[in-house]
Amino acid sequence: MRVVVLGAGVIGVTAAYYLRRAGHEVVVVDRQPGAALETSFANAGEISPGYASPWAAPGIPAKAIRWLLMHHAPLILRPRPDMAMLTWLAAMLRNCTAQRYALNKSRMVGLAEFSRDELVALRRDLGIAYDERSQGTLQLFRTEKQMAGSAKDMDVLRDYGVPFELLDRDGCVRAEPGLAAARDRFVGGLRLPNDETGDCHLFTTRLAERLAADGVEFRYSTAIRALELSGGAIAGVSTDAGTIRGDTYLVALGSHSPQLVRPLGLRLPVYPVKGYSLTVPIADPALAPVSTLLDESYKIAITRLGDRIRVGGMAEISGYDNSLPRRREATLLHSLNDLFPGAARPGPTGFWSGLRPMTPDGPPIIGRAGPANLFLSTGHGTLGWTMACGSAAVVSALISGQRPPIATDGLGLDRYSR
Ligand SMILES: Cc1cc2nc3c(=O)[nH]c(=O)nc-3n(C[C@H](O)[C@H](O)[C@H](O)COP(=O)(O)OP(=O)(O)OC[C@H]3O[C@@H](n4cnc5c(N)ncnc54)[C@H](O)[C@@H]3O)c2cc1C
Repeated sequence: MRVVVLGAGVIGVTAAYYLRRAGHEVVVVDRQPGAALETSFANAGEISPGYASPWAAPGIPAKAIRWLLMHHAPLILRPRPDMAMLTWLAAMLRNCTAQRYALNKSRMVGLAEFSRDELVALRRDLGIAYDERSQGTLQLFRTEKQMAGSAKDMDVLRDYGVPFELLDRDGCVRAEPGLAAARDRFVGGLRLPNDETGDCHLFTTRLAERLAADGVEFRYSTAIRALELSGGAIAGVSTDAGTIRGDTYLVALGSHSPQLVRPLGLRLPVYPVKGYSLTVPIADPALAPVSTLLDESYKIAITRLGDRIRVGGMAEISGYDNSLPRRREATLLHSLNDLFPGAARPGPTGFWSGLRPMTPDGPPIIGRAGPANLFLSTGHGTLGWTMACGSAAVVSALISGQRPPIATDGLGLDRYSR
């Protein structure tokens, strides 16, 4: 079968890998001149099934008001007369009940745990290096209140069989020796030893190179305009470089997926939630993080990627906007310099923004939708890097007409029409 994958982010390229492995002819189309140049370019680098949780959770509406008012705000809302934004926000609020949260979380954790195992297997099979580390993540609590609040998270981790360690101040410094100079800034932390880290862009570009050598065709610098429908099936993809045809089509356009399928009558509740990151060279490795540290107060992740530090976070609901206000950079730098003073070399920061493709309930949308030869893998939100390989294995099995490797209940678009 000839499968046309729309989008060369981490979701599209990993899907191409599994599809190729299943014996299909694969074409990947993207408007950028290479792979992973939009949201998959400079994310926070965490492979973190342990933190796979929907944003829509009980208590979030009250917390959101507090976050919006903070000086270094983790949440920014710019209301606009945009029906997609308002509908998405309303749907998210509806998902903030204990019952919905438990259901959505179970769907996300199952996929994320499976995905981490698939990534480990892929790395073993292909030997791809991407500044990866398997040294866990540490959620750092600056206050006793945050520390006490982690009891609920630990109950959830126990329920899902995710190993964890609750650490006091000394334990945190043992796990992350670079924190020694900032001992007075925190009281403890929660460590998830099975989490991993790595550079998503490096991984995706190296995987794409391997796939190209294995016969996958990459059509870069090609803007997708529309899906062509004929006789109830997709007959081709219209692009600025002509029509591309295949037997089956997979939409993996991240935050831009809804616009492409809308003319087919498909409404994807995926909305862009902007995040920011910066990437700085390490000045002194002894002062730098060894893995990922999550600064709970600001919801910022600080990750070691080889000889660089990536600092990422914030959630800004402001539509399709990639502008780079300097005060967001200041928030990222504040968290980094407060916890790891002297770790980074002063100079250019590689300040960046990306649009997380978020669903209002949390899990991504994976599966067939509309015409029989159209499939979706999008809406991975805060966890697209974590969930990429698992999502790819699932969608490749569905396209190949095989039984998916994990349960797919609640991952399809049909969950919104129930
Ligand atoms: C600040 C930040 C930190 C994050 N941290 C983490 C983390 O630590 N761990 C984690 O798991 N996830 C993290 N994420 C989330 C993760 O980066 C995303 O979920 C993931 O990158 C989404 O991948 P994607 O392939 O769906 O989208 P994208 O990477 O955006 O890929 C979509 C592709 O479609 C192409 N495209 C779109 N429209 C068109 C068109 N019309 N024609 C042709 N091509 C088109 C784009 O060029 C792009 O290459 C973070 C995100 C941000 C913003």
